[in-house]
Amino acid sequence: IFITLEGPDGSGKSTISRFLLDYLKKRKIDFIFTREPGGTPIGENIRKIILDKKNINMSSRTEALLYAASRSQHISEKIKPALDDGKVVVCERFVLSSLAYQGYARGLGIEEVKDINDFAIEGVIPDLTLFFNVDPVYALNRKTNRKGGDRLEKEGVNFHSKVYDGYKKLISLYPEKIKLIDASKSIEETFDQVRKEIEKIL
Ligand code: C5P
Repeated sequence: IFITLEGPDGSGKSTISRFLLDYLKKRKIDFIFTREPGGTPIGENIRKIILDKKNINMSSRTEALLYAASRSQHISEKIKPALDDGKVVVCERFVLSSLAYQGYARGLGIEEVKDINDFAIEGVIPDLTLFFNVDPVYALNRKTNRKGGDRLEKEGVNFHSKVYDGYKKLISLYPEKIKLIDASKSIEETFDQVRKEIEKIL
């Protein structure tokens, strides 16, 4: 079973993941947890290139291709083998992020970005996507206050609001695949919603 976590920067995906991992361990479920961009040594190297503040003039197409490259390695080295072994795979960010960030917010086109990702993912698609729904400006402040920010967080409020609009559009395109989690709630209440959705498919 392949589960992905999506949502704006600072929406709490990483925090809630830690609760989710504890929960899966307690239930003795055979799982792996991973994230994008990254997830493999090659993918983490690509992540560094993408997020490096020095790469200020990276073109949107380069960015989209780097995400797809990282994802392709992730699929072939880690995700597909784990799924073939019957494991549950929980992944922070996947194709939907690329469609919202590069396809919609960067203006490359959702279809165009979907095409390069279809090539990258070899037909492996999530069984369940949890979307952490929270006001993107509130979420971004929460994150940059904490970390100081990477190249993309520096994009500012306009870009991240656009990403959120992109996500909303995509959710309306694939409503049956994506479950909305109200991530404006407390950690406990947010996790509770996640747990309920996970229990439905395990
Ligand atoms: O989710 P995480 O914080 O690890 O993402 C790292 C950065 O990459 C974030 O700033 C996010 O906005 C950005 N990103 C992006 N396009 C994607 C995925 C993530 O710009 N497709």
